[in-house]
Amino acid sequence: MTKPGAVGTAPAARGGDARPRRRVDRELLSIELDRLEIIPVSDPTAAFSPAVDIERDARRIGAVDLEMRAQLVQADVLGRMGKTTAGGQVLRQVNTWAVAHDDAHLLARSHRLLAMFFDRIGDFAAGLEHSLRAVELLSAAALPRLRADHLHGLAMAQLRLRTFDDARDRYAAVLALAEQINDDALQVKVLNDIAWLEDEAGNADRAMQLALRMKAFAAQHEITLDAACVDTLAHAHVRLGQYAEAVDAVRAVTDDPDVESRPTEGLAELLRTAAAALRGLGDLDGAHRALQRCLQICDERQLADVRVQVLEELAELYATEGRYREAYAELRLFHDESIALHSAEREARSHTLQAVFEVAEARREGERFRELAMLDALTGLRNRRYVDTELPSLVREAVQGNCGLAIALVDLDHFKRVNDTLSHSVGDEVLRRVAAILDDAVGDEGFAARVGGEEFLLVLRDVSADEAAECWEAARIDVRSYPWQALTAGLPVTVSVGGTTVGPQRGTQAALLGQADRNLYTAKRAGRDRVVTDGG
Ligand code: GH3
Ligand code: MG
Ligand code: MG
Repeated sequence: MTKPGAVGTAPAARGGDARPRRRVDRELLSIELDRLEIIPVSDPTAAFSPAVDIERDARRIGAVDLEMRAQLVQADVLGRMGKTTAGGQVLRQVNTWAVAHDDAHLLARSHRLLAMFFDRIGDFAAGLEHSLRAVELLSAAALPRLRADHLHGLAMAQLRLRTFDDARDRYAAVLALAEQINDDALQVKVLNDIAWLEDEAGNADRAMQLALRMKAFAAQHEITLDAACVDTLAHAHVRLGQYAEAVDAVRAVTDDPDVESRPTEGLAELLRTAAAALRGLGDLDGAHRALQRCLQICDERQLADVRVQVLEELAELYATEGRYREAYAELRLFHDESIALHSAEREARSHTLQAVFEVAEARREGERFRELAMLDALTGLRNRRYVDTELPSLVREAVQGNCGLAIALVDLDHFKRVNDTLSHSVGDEVLRRVAAILDDAVGDEGFAARVGGEEFLLVLRDVSADEAAECWEAARIDVRSYPWQALTAGLPVTVSVGGTTVGPQRGTQAALLGQADRNLYTAKRAGRDRVVTDGG
């Protein structure tokens, strides 16, 4: 890998309100990373933005290993958000760097995340291999929470491969660690997994005991069980023929008026279990309703694997009703879709593997590497991928929390002239300096990103429209009054800005960007070097 280059030299801050850059220190960054590495487990998106900041800070002080650690956190988040290929590409690159530099911590972490990657694409044997490496390579001095995470990964991989005895031992170790460090959420998760393990291993009574222990523990610690945990409990009841109890357990989730806004991981599986319980109780109409809702969720969320299981349950249901013709038809459908699913999975798997491994092999160079992560290679600002990952949730939070969020699209004026009269490399240098000016202008209340060739996006949180407009105007003036003479030999550098804020008609990323773009266009038409916001 090429050593990441320095970020464009920041221009001298202008005026009296220069914001001092935070002092960056290797040890502080490392401590912050220790904390961040474990956050995605409970709250994927919370780790993302801080990880991008640390990556930048680490690059500033030339700490490439810390930069890599920060990228791994981002890869972890991407994977958990369903961006398997993008996350896998970053993982693969960091792992390659870790091998070349024999960096034990990065090796251990990248194997841990590679294990999850292979699990997601359904290659469980590879998942186990990486989980084993992740445990082996973790330093004895690693934080207990991290050790628990690596052991947990191994236990899950063993459970996937149905090596129940190994998995049982490993889970016991994780549970002991979780108790030792008082990690309640992890204890619930592990109890859920062990209950599921015993269910799979055919020990219905033991599964029930563990599921009840999980339920009691969660209640005692005021943790709401997610749909996957409730499914484990309900499934254990069904196994024991306790259909009414199973239906009761399920109702806690399905009768929740907020069910649509709850994390839906496991919701479809839960409805399938509910259908089996209702069938057991003889409520065949209820079972049909549960399965129909479940199929709907599967189609909406493209859960092909759950859908196949639902078809099987539907066949059972028809058979119970004596509707053998329909039962046979569903069974045929189940059979056909199973085969189609397996071949689709195989295809998707080879597609992902190719994208992650072969392309990475061919294009292993710093530029693309950084593009894959969240920073723009030329300017060191955040890139479009970062914006697409972060902005939707910022907009959602602003709408829900009714707090101000302002954005602005900034486009250089007549930038082609700079390239044409001077040179492309001077053009690049202009872009770097403008980037640094814009970055300073938004300060710590927001961020600046490069979203196109000579186009930037500024984002400010918790501001009124007036405050934002002031900031955009200040940024515009900072650009035009920068001492460009030495670089551009008299050619002026100015920007046009289209700003907007979250509001009634602008409650999504697309609406917001559309409005900013219209305002930018108006600014260009009105003669450039100006700011246009919704107020004019
Ligand atoms: P306008 O005021 O209407 O925006 O005029 P413009 O010349 O800035 O707009 P136009 O979109 O026609 O041209 C943008 C130019 O930006 C064209 C392209 O060569 C240049 N550009 C885009 N990306 C880069 C880059 O990474 N480096 C350099 N040096 N130039 C770039
Ligand atoms: Mg442009
Ligand atoms: Mg332009």
